[in-house]
Amino acid sequence: MTIIRGATTIASDCKAEIQASVKELLDGIFSANALQKSEIKGFLFSLTSDIHSYHPAKAARECGYDYAPLFAAVEPDIDGGLALCIRLMLFTDLESERDVKHIYQKGAKTLRKDISEILNIALDGPAGSGKSTVAKILAKDYNILYLDTGAMYRACGLKALRMGIDPKDGEKIAGILPELNVKVEYRDGKQHTLLDGEDVSLAIRENSVSMAASSISAHHAVRVKMVEMQREIAKSMSCVLDGRDIGTAVLPNAKFKFFITADSRVRAKRRFEELKARGENVDFETLHAEIVKRDKQDSEREFSPLMCADDAVVVDTSDLGIEEVVAKIKGFIQAEI
Ligand code: C5P
Repeated sequence: MTIIRGATTIASDCKAEIQASVKELLDGIFSANALQKSEIKGFLFSLTSDIHSYHPAKAARECGYDYAPLFAAVEPDIDGGLALCIRLMLFTDLESERDVKHIYQKGAKTLRKDISEILNIALDGPAGSGKSTVAKILAKDYNILYLDTGAMYRACGLKALRMGIDPKDGEKIAGILPELNVKVEYRDGKQHTLLDGEDVSLAIRENSVSMAASSISAHHAVRVKMVEMQREIAKSMSCVLDGRDIGTAVLPNAKFKFFITADSRVRAKRRFEELKARGENVDFETLHAEIVKRDKQDSEREFSPLMCADDAVVVDTSDLGIEEVVAKIKGFIQAEI
């Protein structure tokens, strides 16, 4: 017997919200774990005592999850616990717990305050060092949010490119700043980056946007705006953030700081493979030269340059596989937690 856990929150105590959230949670768990009806032995919901309008088990039955026993119970109130929260234990006959994906949606992505303090992990380093891959694994394993701060600067860079403005031109960039509308949203645990309401998560990954992001991120006013958003998010929930200035400027008091680095040719090779897999045609030597140029630009800029914080742990990933890097970082975290 393997239990898959899930939780979600609702915005208000009303029948429609409960029905929609229960469906979204169940659909999310089933698709993430590729579950078959025959593997399910039972659904056990619990709900916080501020939910009265509808019965989650009934909502589940109504949307087709009616082939195994369903049960729901009200939880006792816990100081600091989440409000308007629906939790689920899904009993399955899967044999191994190993690859199971527990699903936390909406407000339930935060760690419960009664269980844990907010945990911020700062990962800084140059392009292609492996920080984002490590950050995603840590976020999944610790069930906390992953905030990709580079994506926010990439969206700013994309805006400048689309408007035909040179991202280096401080005056012109200052002019568009009041209308620069960058936001991040989370759906099924994945960050979506929005520019003027449009989901640009894919567009910002194009190689042409990398240099624009680096240039636009050098402007103080741009940084102030982005850093403010990043701090707001990090203050409200546990998360792992990756970037260039997290440990030095965004969250100088973060409990855990790592500086992830690697030889520039190794990093260029990783980016090369990544872009190739996405169908982008780039020449390796050109890409390497761009990475070196971007490192230089990021490290030599006046405001919040790419720099290792004095109290960060340096991890050189040139000769390490991703599992080894993650194990190393977790080793440091586990020793302190
Ligand atoms: O990490 P990524 O390659 O997506 O970042 C794109 C650019 O955004 C970087 O080259 C850097 O100039 C900028 N950046 C930054 N501060 C951060 C994250 C990214 O200046 N915290």
